[in-house]
Amino acid sequence: MVEITVRGAGIFGLSIAWACVMRGAKVQVIDPHGPAAGASGGVVGALAPHVPENWNTKKQFQRDSLVAARDFWPMIDALSGIDSGYARLGRLQPIPDEHALTLAQCRVAGARDNWGDLAQWAIVDQVPDWVPPSATGRWVWDDMTARINPQMACRSLAAALQARGCPILTQGDDRGRVIWAAGAQDLAQISQHLGRDLGRGEKGQAAVFDLDLRDSPQLYIDSLHITPHADGTTAIGSTSERNYDDPMETDQRLDDLIAKARALVPALADCAVIQRWAGARPRAKTRAPVMGPHPVYPDAFIANGGFKIGFGMAIGVAEVMADLVVDGIDRIPDDFRTEHWIKG
Ligand SMILES: Cc1cc2nc3c(=O)[nH]c(=O)nc-3n(C[C@H](O)[C@H](O)[C@H](O)COP(=O)(O)OP(=O)(O)OC[C@H]3O[C@@H](n4cnc5c(N)ncnc54)[C@H](O)[C@@H]3O)c2cc1C
Repeated sequence: MVEITVRGAGIFGLSIAWACVMRGAKVQVIDPHGPAAGASGGVVGALAPHVPENWNTKKQFQRDSLVAARDFWPMIDALSGIDSGYARLGRLQPIPDEHALTLAQCRVAGARDNWGDLAQWAIVDQVPDWVPPSATGRWVWDDMTARINPQMACRSLAAALQARGCPILTQGDDRGRVIWAAGAQDLAQISQHLGRDLGRGEKGQAAVFDLDLRDSPQLYIDSLHITPHADGTTAIGSTSERNYDDPMETDQRLDDLIAKARALVPALADCAVIQRWAGARPRAKTRAPVMGPHPVYPDAFIANGGFKIGFGMAIGVAEVMADLVVDGIDRIPDDFRTEHWIKG
């Protein structure tokens, strides 16, 4: 039996552990801070696709991973008895002007070509009451987008792993093949070790409002995600900060984001903010996931670089890593290879 140690209990580490367990490996997960202590403990949880145009490896990989989520999360939740809050309820985006309308129409065709029967990208003129007006009276609607509660999803997956005999430890010795899925911290350490900026944490701040829109699609407006959650709250996010002192501290930037959300979405105007959150997204230099041999630890592997779409990519990353580490089958897309990242 193949033995595997996964270092890191964020969404990447937990998903990889699950894919390895499913292949019959004996797996342990080690994280000094426990599950979802890093970026994966966030609050936004938008599982949203890239626009269906200028098709590339990353978009295809993300599409397949998002599609797989539909069966994956209900199965994990059934096993764990914990609700990840997953629901594929779609997303609306206002179309502000004629130029955006023309672009949206091209993307309808792009979705037909690149998404096929998997999901739709359409232009609609009817939306729920809480959605603010659009200048053209039209919105883009896609039904590939889903929402998930990041913190609960990690708890659900951790419990499912434990139910399948995979321990989640805060310390322990490596056993068997080692996969590092240690997020922003590992990227920073690798950059330091190799004396080059290969990636690090990009800070993001987000907030949760006391607004129950649980059966509604999410809204993407003026670079802001508005994500209704299953527990009757609505999250908004996020800031993008390259320079910061404390990755976990919220500040005036979040106040500004909250003010912007209230101004854009009147339904939020009088709702209380019930949680403020900040964390560091693992941003590799290539802005793409990174998979393959670890560049510093001999004989170990790495899976990192989820950046802004780590939850959207995790299932696909996990399958590729399990193929590689358990079965010795290398399906890593060239753009995501360690070598490409180190060279690029
Ligand atoms: C504000 C914000 C909003 C976001 N919104 C979305 C969104 O809407 N949709 C989406 O898909 N993604 C979103 N993301 C991105 C997503 O959260 C990340 O891409 C994802 O969580 C990364 O997962 P990870 O497992 O690689 O890293 P992490 O979750 O950071 O996990 C890394 C883990 O490694 C552990 N670790 C560190 N050092 C060691 C060590 N030496 N040994 C063992 N373990 C170690 C840490 O304790 C941590 O638990 C958002 C991120 C932020 C910050």
